[in-house]
Amino acid sequence: MRISDVLKDKGGEVVTVPPAMIVQDLLTTLAEHGIGAAVVSTGANSVDGIVSERDIVRALAARGAGVLTEPVSAIATTRVHTVPPDADIAEVERLMTERRFRHVPVVLGNRLTGIVSIGDVVKKRITELEVEATALSGYITGERS
Ligand code: AMP
Repeated sequence: MRISDVLKDKGGEVVTVPPAMIVQDLLTTLAEHGIGAAVVSTGANSVDGIVSERDIVRALAARGAGVLTEPVSAIATTRVHTVPPDADIAEVERLMTERRFRHVPVVLGNRLTGIVSIGDVVKKRITELEVEATALSGYITGERS
């Protein structure tokens, strides 16, 4: 299964924020959308960074509440790992586990076409493994579902 199969279920909407937005407004954006990370973009579907709850927590612990009025660019990660829509789901799951990040933007050419979280990926993988298990069991017992 491919990452595009995950996007078929959840859609291709990506919440982006400009690098100059202050962290306080980023918090509001994350809370309003019920998400844990946003892509930092200067516009036109570009991926200029990614910023997650974890970046906010780290910066708050290191520098205190003054961080809330700093721009998002002060805390974002600029070397973003992206995947194409045809990336294999199991590979992306491995990438996220090894690199310890829970979000990956999906990019085709230079265009941002979606974002997947570890939750989206694991949910799809479980469904995939359940279908395989049912098929194998049917094959062994001679029953077809
Ligand atoms: P997360 O687990 O997604 O909350 O992110 C943990 C850390 O990895 C944070 O510093 C994020 O800015 C960074 N991060 C999240 N997603 C990515 C990604 N796709 N590529 C590079 N860094 C990322």
